[in-house]
Amino acid sequence: MTARLEVDLTAFDANLAAARATIGPAELMVVVKDDAYRHGLEMICRRAWRDGVRWFGAFDVQNAAGVRAALGADARIFVWRAGTTSEIDDAVRQNLDIGVGDAAVLEDVAAAARTRGMRARVHLKIDSGLHRNGVRPENWSAFVDRAAELEVRGDITVAGVWSHIAEASDAEDDEARSVFDEAVDAARRAGLMPSVLHLAASAAAFARPEFRYDMVRIGAFCYGIRSAGGISEESLGVRPIASLRAPVHAVDHTVGVVRIGVGALDGLPSSLSGNMRVQTASGPRTVTAIGDQETTVEAWPDAVVGQMVTVYGSGASSATDLAEAIGTIGEEIALRVAPRVTRVYLDESGTTR
Ligand SMILES: *Cc1c(COP(=O)(O)O)cnc(C)c1O
Repeated sequence: MTARLEVDLTAFDANLAAARATIGPAELMVVVKDDAYRHGLEMICRRAWRDGVRWFGAFDVQNAAGVRAALGADARIFVWRAGTTSEIDDAVRQNLDIGVGDAAVLEDVAAAARTRGMRARVHLKIDSGLHRNGVRPENWSAFVDRAAELEVRGDITVAGVWSHIAEASDAEDDEARSVFDEAVDAARRAGLMPSVLHLAASAAAFARPEFRYDMVRIGAFCYGIRSAGGISEESLGVRPIASLRAPVHAVDHTVGVVRIGVGALDGLPSSLSGNMRVQTASGPRTVTAIGDQETTVEAWPDAVVGQMVTVYGSGASSATDLAEAIGTIGEEIALRVAPRVTRVYLDESGTTR
């Protein structure tokens, strides 16, 4: 028996519905980087598509190829990390929506499209203060002028203007938003007609209507991962869709420990030992050590081999609760699920693997 990550697709549906009710009429882009935050790219994409989602946020061309394979030609797939000429060519060939935050990359995208006899769809990125690539405001006007030329030549279509914000303080985000607004105005003055403006990720999309523009890029909240130190799941109207469960594989009452694993928690930060409790048949028990091969938990009276405990998720702490105990964020916990942990999908029709 091994550990498993149970992904509740009905809860995912509900989170998507809550997100759309909150952010509408803006469009929802579901962010699926990191194997859909380790929930499994293919199943998550197919389910979101079934729920009516048409935009997917994929980090790079490999991630995007997975979305194309799952959903076919009609999905709009936004990538924001295509840097080498081969990645760029791949992005053009796959008909992706390409985030471009660099003048040289813009030239490479146009060249790749020209060579293929295609028109590349691009979203121009302004650096609105985060300094995680993006064109600096002082270089923006030359950048949009050049984009307008390439559009007239038929190499590219400027579908969007976008940026990414820290979501750490409202004041900084407001500053970023005014930089963004100026960049959009400048793009329009250059003759561009971007139809999708997008700036916000989960936190700003939910909390701040003026950040929604035409579309929001939401990862964490779709999976029910709330912000550390932020608004509760209940107030957001979402809930965690994943539960990590692990079998008891040895019980040692002489020293009062139960061993669980293998693979259940070995990816989790060892700083969680002593700082987290798992949910057992007899209630919560403290995790006393997190090791490479197995984890020990305070014993409970009726512990038996094969019994499951919940590490996080429904009936237990959330990934963000655990994260808060050690000063990190919920994604950090979610992304640590070891690859060998089996994923199991639950929905109204039962269980699938
Ligand atoms: C990860 C990411 C998002 C989604 O962020 P969440 O906080 O998980 O919603 C959006 N945009 C970009 C550029 C990202 O890298």
